[in-house]
Amino acid sequence: MSTPLPSTVTVIKHPLLQVKLTRLRDQRTQPEEFRARLAEVSALLVFEATRDFDTRPDRIQTPLAACEGAALARPIILIPILRAGNGMVDGMLSMFPDASVGHIGMRRDEQTHRPHCYYFNAPAHLAGADLILVDPMLATGHSASGAITKLKEAGASRIRFVCCVSCPEGLAHLCGTHPDVRVFTAAVDTGLDERAYIVPGLGDAGDRYFGTLPVDLRVAL
Ligand code: URA
Repeated sequence: MSTPLPSTVTVIKHPLLQVKLTRLRDQRTQPEEFRARLAEVSALLVFEATRDFDTRPDRIQTPLAACEGAALARPIILIPILRAGNGMVDGMLSMFPDASVGHIGMRRDEQTHRPHCYYFNAPAHLAGADLILVDPMLATGHSASGAITKLKEAGASRIRFVCCVSCPEGLAHLCGTHPDVRVFTAAVDTGLDERAYIVPGLGDAGDRYFGTLPVDLRVAL
């Protein structure tokens, strides 16, 4: 019997998302298609992840009459975790083109084995914004958790994490360390292999997006 997911996790099962995720997983999918499908998956994910965002009234005039419309209550900041997170930015920006984009780079410190932030660049209005931290894969959860700690230290408080594929280990770590952060994913896979890759997963998301897979791992079509 599988362990129940933490209550802060939402698995988005929309059929369009699952079909596109299948294209990402397929080892025959080449970088050109991978980039296009990742953008679409990201747009669908963020559509659901922002479903309950606050709005404020925005009174405008249509060609016919005055109309009570809506605007987002707070600015949105997207934060991709380098480098694969960059692949999710364009798709999300297609949903809110006026969002700001920050960047965070995390790597494992070989001495302490803890996540170490080697790059941080975020806009100054972190505290008043809705932050969406993105990475296609939630594997051990250490990078995402470390990135959230860093963002909170910089003043952020309203943070959501969005990924394409996750696994129970990563969800347990992330939700255990940051129980206030809601997590949105299109899939919860079986687990991690000995190299901390998600199984079945989709391989190395960064390599597949940037076309940097070692030649001997490329699939000839
Ligand atoms: N990062 C990836 O790109 N893929 C995995 O499976 C795990 C981490």
